[in-house]
Amino acid sequence: MKQAPLIMLLTALVLLSACGQSRPKQAVKSHPRVDSLMKVMTLDEKIGQLVLFTGDWSVTGPSMREGYLEDIRAGRCGNLLNAYTADFTRQVQRIAVEATRLGIPILFGFDVIHGFRTIFPINLGMSASWDLDAIEQSARIAASEAAAAGLQWTYSPMCDICVEPRWGRISEGAGEDPYLGSLIAAAMTRGYQGSDLGADSTLLACVKHFAAYGAPQAGRDYNTVDMSERWLREFYLPPYKAAVDAGALSVMASFNELDGVPAHANAHLLTDILRKEWGFQGFVVSDYTGIWEMINHGYARDLADASALALHAGLDMDMMSSGYFEHLKGLVESGRVRRRTLDQAVRRVLEVKAALGLFDDPYRYCDPEREKARTLTDENKAFARQLAAESMVLLKNDGVLPLKKGVKTAVIGALAASRDDLLGSWRGAGEAGSVPASIVEAIAQVTPVVYAEGCRETGDDRSGFAQALQAARSAQQVVLVIGEDCQWSGEAASRSSIRIPGVQSELLEQLVSSGKSVAVVLLNGRPLDLSAESEQASALLEAWFPGTMGGYAVADVLFGDVNPSGKLPVTFPRNLGQVPIYYYAKNTGRPYVHPEAKYESRYLDVPNEPLYAFGHGLSYTTFTYSPIRLSTGSFSGNGSLKASVTVTNSGKCQGTETVQLYLRDLVGSVTRPVKQLKGFQRVTLGPGESREVTFTLDREMLSFWRKDMTWGPEPGDFHVFIGGASDQLQQSAFSYTCD
Ligand code: BGC
Repeated sequence: MKQAPLIMLLTALVLLSACGQSRPKQAVKSHPRVDSLMKVMTLDEKIGQLVLFTGDWSVTGPSMREGYLEDIRAGRCGNLLNAYTADFTRQVQRIAVEATRLGIPILFGFDVIHGFRTIFPINLGMSASWDLDAIEQSARIAASEAAAAGLQWTYSPMCDICVEPRWGRISEGAGEDPYLGSLIAAAMTRGYQGSDLGADSTLLACVKHFAAYGAPQAGRDYNTVDMSERWLREFYLPPYKAAVDAGALSVMASFNELDGVPAHANAHLLTDILRKEWGFQGFVVSDYTGIWEMINHGYARDLADASALALHAGLDMDMMSSGYFEHLKGLVESGRVRRRTLDQAVRRVLEVKAALGLFDDPYRYCDPEREKARTLTDENKAFARQLAAESMVLLKNDGVLPLKKGVKTAVIGALAASRDDLLGSWRGAGEAGSVPASIVEAIAQVTPVVYAEGCRETGDDRSGFAQALQAARSAQQVVLVIGEDCQWSGEAASRSSIRIPGVQSELLEQLVSSGKSVAVVLLNGRPLDLSAESEQASALLEAWFPGTMGGYAVADVLFGDVNPSGKLPVTFPRNLGQVPIYYYAKNTGRPYVHPEAKYESRYLDVPNEPLYAFGHGLSYTTFTYSPIRLSTGSFSGNGSLKASVTVTNSGKCQGTETVQLYLRDLVGSVTRPVKQLKGFQRVTLGPGESREVTFTLDREMLSFWRKDMTWGPEPGDFHVFIGGASDQLQQSAFSYTCD
């Protein structure tokens, strides 16, 4: 018996070193106030700290339902979401602090996903910048605006890897790649939480949706997820873990089940992996009514049952199910839930409140003056414009871009005139009224414009085609803005088709048939099937939903004030039949290499390759790559090897290139992907300028979940690839031996 703690410690150490894992940076320290509170809190008061209710929203600002205010006053609701502004949160905080027996402050949370008032591009768009500093900065700005409006907690970063374009929430994440996704998750966490969670400009991050929410069957939101433990660990878990390692102190469970167990009661995820393996020290919150939904899943008999299952699995706070609110007391009193389990959850929540400084000054985040001074500032907007331009991906350009200034330009498409759509879904407190210019308004500031709607994004009304054709005829250059309504991605926005909706593509076809070269700007929240449009359009600029300053940013790129540098963080298929399609596929036993062969892994009606590969993105200049130079042909143990290329700007203007490094392990104890991103560097080069770009390859980059489910490298031969897209790569080879 005496040896048990030692054995546990050793097991933990082995697990940690096997996984190459480190403890989170932002460890929670025990706060004396928490200790003293825990001693005097009643059962009701404790349960209140595990309850998260929503504030209602009215036209003039947030308000609470009468009953919820009473719950706060009674100490039975300790956390609120969807309620903000410095004034309002101060009023509510006053009730919690002054009118309750113990005065425990409320924690205010909100979905600050890609900006709060100043809205940045949707997350998939931001990720296309591959600019980690800029992404971190966007989170820092979002935090400073939101924290000034009384908030302390954001439900971000969304770390769900996704290879399923039908799923609307692919727009909220960083795309398909675990490596890029992990770096972005960590950057956003650092941006939100800063180095001091208690500062009045930082927010508590919430890692969501744990886990594998991005893999719903058939792309239908909330649908079943099932995958092997190996696949989960290798491709889906890394971004969540990266955010935890970066210090995130809250995690949200996902709506889906995994291996037959809903995430909300999944002890393997919430306790074994999250706490025991990763050392997570914060608290876990449910998703909206996620505990209650376990009844529908067929996993819990009723809400009381669901609540007990959730708490036991490691779910600390109940968002909106009212399960803990209504049933936890009875469950504790009947002995189904142990007081120790409840206390542990309460302590976790209180420790985070302490880390946020709420016990030192509960009104720290509620300062109307600061709110005014920090919101939608010129600096924030200038940064949003820059990041929006950086997020755009030039998919195709036959030379029509950049457009000329001072030349009559037809701008066509309903989306071109929409300020609201620029904000995308999950736009926090962003408002169309704060968007200074739609795309057509921004273009009109640099060149004479004739505008025609042409058609809406949806429906089959072609009555505007004639006017659009007339506008195009009267102009020297034509910009067509098409895509999806901004609410067609995000939550509960799955599609069974990934074509451009309505008659927009038909309008493009008619414009092109009339003899015009058309530059197409795309606003959309998912990879689309652009096979037809890529044939028709002279240029395709993927602008995603670019945010508050998106109109200007589109104009900046179209007219060459900014040279596009975005690279796709997700594969764009040729059609839906290729889905799921992602660059880190396995080779199979019958890879497709002989065009005339039948029995190889291929389609009869479409090539295997996507339309636009992961990492693809053009520039107004061109970059050439030298062959790869290796410092040595092999390395061993904890040694390393350097792989270098010389990248040259071979065009006529300055540009930024994202140089990407991929590896392939040729033979493994389990099969390995044909390539995996392991590094990238952004380089800015003037015309004619060359730069040597060097990557250091080490043991960790070769590591994976081996056959026996330990993490580490295996000796053998490897390919290394470097280039400007996952399908445009130089190749070399090296070998690795264990010491
Ligand atoms: C979403 C979460 C979000 C929560 C609170 C849920 O429906 O799945 O991502 O944070 O609502 O708004």
